[in-house]
Amino acid sequence: MRAEIPFFPPDLFADDRKVMLELLQEIGTAREQKFILGTRTADFEELLRDSLGAADVVACGSGTAALGLVLRAMGIGSGDEVVVPAFGCAPLASSVLEVGAKPVFADIDPHTMVVDPDDVERRITDRAKAIMPAHMFSIMADMPRLVELAAQHKLRLLEDSAVAQGAVLRGTPAGLWGNAGVFSFVQVKSFGMPGEGGAVVTGDPELGRTVRMLRNHGQNRRRFVYDIVGTNSRFDEIQAAFQTYRFAGFPARLERRAAIADYYTERFSRLNGRAIVPPPPGREGRCYYVYCLQVEKRDELRDHLASRGIGSHVYYPQPLPLQAGFAPHAPAGGRWPNAEYASRRILALPIYPHLSDSEVARIADAVCDFAREDGALR
Ligand SMILES: *Cc1c(COP(=O)(O)O)cnc(C)c1O
Repeated sequence: MRAEIPFFPPDLFADDRKVMLELLQEIGTAREQKFILGTRTADFEELLRDSLGAADVVACGSGTAALGLVLRAMGIGSGDEVVVPAFGCAPLASSVLEVGAKPVFADIDPHTMVVDPDDVERRITDRAKAIMPAHMFSIMADMPRLVELAAQHKLRLLEDSAVAQGAVLRGTPAGLWGNAGVFSFVQVKSFGMPGEGGAVVTGDPELGRTVRMLRNHGQNRRRFVYDIVGTNSRFDEIQAAFQTYRFAGFPARLERRAAIADYYTERFSRLNGRAIVPPPPGREGRCYYVYCLQVEKRDELRDHLASRGIGSHVYYPQPLPLQAGFAPHAPAGGRWPNAEYASRRILALPIYPHLSDSEVARIADAVCDFAREDGALR
């Protein structure tokens, strides 16, 4: 019996356990007893800011919180609309609803699964205040077109780059294409950590300043002096020190993810182009957070992989506006055909950096064997 290959590995931070314990001891027993928003958070923000060439990076409670903080800093609220992708995770819609605005769901490109700029344009009304695209799985959204659209219609552009930290498109890093972007450090993300956390990144220092106040109860410099109504979305000192330490290894881990994706895509290019469709090849504008196939017999492939001890995952089983939680906020009877198509076919394979070459080959073999048995080889 060969070892299982889980989709979510339990040993993501195994190599850095000693460092985590040392930081816990050091910060936990330090004289100043400072556990949030201290010098380590400031150092972590500065590291990210300088590595990106951003005007500001503000660490906060989560990627979801980061979206909400930016929307609030932009003054978006009741009566406003924000155009978001119909396919993606809950925060794309919930962050907009939380500030009292309305998410307007645009369909996606059926192959890349990022939002379709033509459909975004069709859905812009005179109540629209912002466009909020998301980079999906391994592919950055069509930011050049979306920047153009935002300028044309005088809309703000908030880039949900929660999964795309480290990706670069036409020389511009993910996160810096719009007025602001966000990162998520939740465990499963490419620069994940053992806990909750996120960041707002921006080229606009004024927006950064407002987000900084909002994340800490609207306080500016002095404690208990509230200039605006904020919230609690602060960052942990132990996690900040841990992430600062782990940042040096981040490029190598991203490169390993990309190399695994290159290998998969090369192996799968020989499959029938309809039954099992790999993402497009290449490195430009790519992030390899999750490697997603589109598969005609998705559930059968999922079972086949499971029978060989290989975990896989369905991101996302239903478009957002068709989910019970969000349907009341979407036009009744609305259709998003490409998002619906993607949710029926999508299947993600393991792609974490410490997969061994033989495990990666075993996963690709299992997919190709399924295709062969199914007559889907060219
Ligand atoms: C993970 C994710 C978020 C939210 O990040 P959290 O840190 O989990 O709150 C937002 N948008 C996208 C596209 C994500 O994948």
